[in-house]
Amino acid sequence: MQHHPVVRHSTPDSWIVICPECQRDKEETPPVGINLPVSTSAIAEMLATNHARRRGGLERKLAG
Ligand SMILES: [Zn+2]
Repeated sequence: MQHHPVVRHSTPDSWIVICPECQRDKEETPPVGINLPVSTSAIAEMLATNHARRRGGLERKLAG
């Protein structure tokens, strides 16, 4: 399943990457950086991008 992480404001000083797919899948531990507050939106967006890309790559590997 493709993951679609989104970046949200957590507090005025921090950002958080939320991944609906990871939250739905209770048996799988969320990867590092997911559902964890970070200090800048740039870091959060990088984590979100990496997470989406990694999951997609893994699926291609398993399928092929
Ligand atoms: Zn995820």
